[in-house]
Amino acid sequence: MNSGAILEAAGLTKEFKGFVAVNNVNLTVERGSIHALIGPNGAGKTTLFNLLTKFLQPTHGAIRYQGRDITRMQPADIARLGLVRSFQISAVFPHMTALENVRIALQRRRGDSFDFWRSEKVLSKFNSEAAGLLADVGLTEFSDVRASDLSYGRKRALEIATTLALNPEMLLLDEPMAGMAQQDIERISALIRRISKNRTILMVEHNLSVVASLSNRITVLARGKVLAEGDYAAVSKDPRVIEAYIGA
Ligand code: ADP
Repeated sequence: MNSGAILEAAGLTKEFKGFVAVNNVNLTVERGSIHALIGPNGAGKTTLFNLLTKFLQPTHGAIRYQGRDITRMQPADIARLGLVRSFQISAVFPHMTALENVRIALQRRRGDSFDFWRSEKVLSKFNSEAAGLLADVGLTEFSDVRASDLSYGRKRALEIATTLALNPEMLLLDEPMAGMAQQDIERISALIRRISKNRTILMVEHNLSVVASLSNRITVLARGKVLAEGDYAAVSKDPRVIEAYIGA
């Protein structure tokens, strides 16, 4: 294992009824990096992301996280090891406030029963921890707003706060900027930069200007294979990458 690596995939392959969506991919994510996975539509990004987060089982290949083989582990088990995928928006409880959502995520991490919350002292301790996480994502003034009443961008920030409640060492973000207005993109970019200070981030992202400004390492996929790897300056000049995007 490469000493700087936190996550390594070797020979990762996923076939769907004979169609090879991810084809013998080797990927190394360095500890502390913001690593982006890009590529034209149909390149296999979502499939690879689902393999790495254990939402899909690979046909062949292996995945190691912090030196440990996680190839056959379940998402909940790898979350306990510190590798966490951001929740889908639907996993945020719409009728609960931002604060309550984060508190429940903290509760999930501890695996406590609901009875536990009947203690006022414990409740106030976790409320203040939840408030701290909301401050980290810039949602302090929205603590008491129901999740369903938050703007799209703020819902995503809340989703990141509930993910941070699990105290991950590595965060996997699935298109964090999807469907966002420019103002939200700037806010979430600043947030990702901030939370990356003591964490590793791997994200699938379509918005190439976001990828250019945030990532220090980029893997370009095309037709299920790694086409190029490097920083943005390098991959954006690569003729094979240009051709894959134009030809897509
Ligand atoms: P991307 O995220 O880069 O757009 P995907 O990983 O979604 O690409 O898809 C890669 C290829 O695998 C596509 O051709 C897609 O149709 C195919 N694919 C993805 N999921 C399935 C599935 N469950 N069954 C069959 N084919 C699939």
